[in-house]
Amino acid sequence: MTQIRMTHVIEKIKNAGVKFTRPRKLVLDALRTARQPLSMKEIHKRVRNRADLASVYRTVNLFQELGIVREVQLGEGYQRYEFIEEGRHHHYVLCIECGKLEDIDICFLDRVEKMTNFKILSHSMEFQGLCHSCAE
Ligand SMILES: [Zn+2]
Ligand SMILES: [Zn+2]
Repeated sequence: MTQIRMTHVIEKIKNAGVKFTRPRKLVLDALRTARQPLSMKEIHKRVRNRADLASVYRTVNLFQELGIVREVQLGEGYQRYEFIEEGRHHHYVLCIECGKLEDIDICFLDRVEKMTNFKILSHSMEFQGLCHSCAE
């Protein structure tokens, strides 16, 4: 994460007429430094209760609207969220046995646009299965 990118994100928040309050900063930092997408509860845990769960929800939803955060559906019955890093688009494969999560550096977005002539605005493509050790 470069300083420039971070300034850009904060600008984006402020330009939307939204105050960059302390709870918002905490949530942003939690998502920004996470190595994998986090659930609302995990984000709440990371801000160490310096923001209540309701304001974590509101903040994450706001960041999603602003295009700072994206939702990741891994078929777990709840959503996870991750910080959008420009130039680093990827998908996930999840082991349903041990919870191991790996990045997949492939995406068919361009192909889908070409095939359908749609301007795709959002998409999700996550995989669930058994990792090597769990499959044995
Ligand atoms: Zn596993
Ligand atoms: Zn994609």
